[in-house]
Amino acid sequence: MYAGHFAAGLAMKATAPRTPTWPLLLGVGFLDVLFGVFVVAGVEHVRLTPGHAPGFSLDFIDWSHSLVMSAVWGVVYALAFVRRGAAVAAWCWAAVFSHFVLDLLMHPGDLAVSPHSEAHVGLGLWTRWPTGWWYFELAFVALCGAYYIVRARRDGTFGGHAWWVVGIVLALHVTNSPWLSPTG
Ligand SMILES: [Zn+2]
Repeated sequence: MYAGHFAAGLAMKATAPRTPTWPLLLGVGFLDVLFGVFVVAGVEHVRLTPGHAPGFSLDFIDWSHSLVMSAVWGVVYALAFVRRGAAVAAWCWAAVFSHFVLDLLMHPGDLAVSPHSEAHVGLGLWTRWPTGWWYFELAFVALCGAYYIVRARRDGTFGGHAWWVVGIVLALHVTNSPWLSPTG
């Protein structure tokens, strides 16, 4: 998932309005930031597979994207916000870990349980539904976006630009369509 992660961040903000927005939005993408760093460092490996959905093969992403490491990175990330209170730190952990949960739907069995473990998980919507996954994620983004807008209007303490924010996440999702680029 790509835009869907940010939509999940918005849904968390709408559920816990007292958690600052940026830590949530950075948190949902934190594992991908680590992935980028680890690929450059040669610790993790990705291969492009043109013509085969989703267009790349994540050969080794155990340090950024395994179940155990997602939980661990969540703790590391949450520690950075612990001064803002336990509730904020807990939501920051949830933001990081939500990345694994959502990737679980999309990834084709390339998510290890722990680094170098034999067991891998992933429902594989990317490969099962080479274009259908995009509509699935669109529905998820729309649902989270609608929830964010409704809650922002009711709460009044956040989401002054709710329509713009949701529009940007939707635009991100459009740029990530299987008809434009083979990424996910
Ligand atoms: Zn990811």
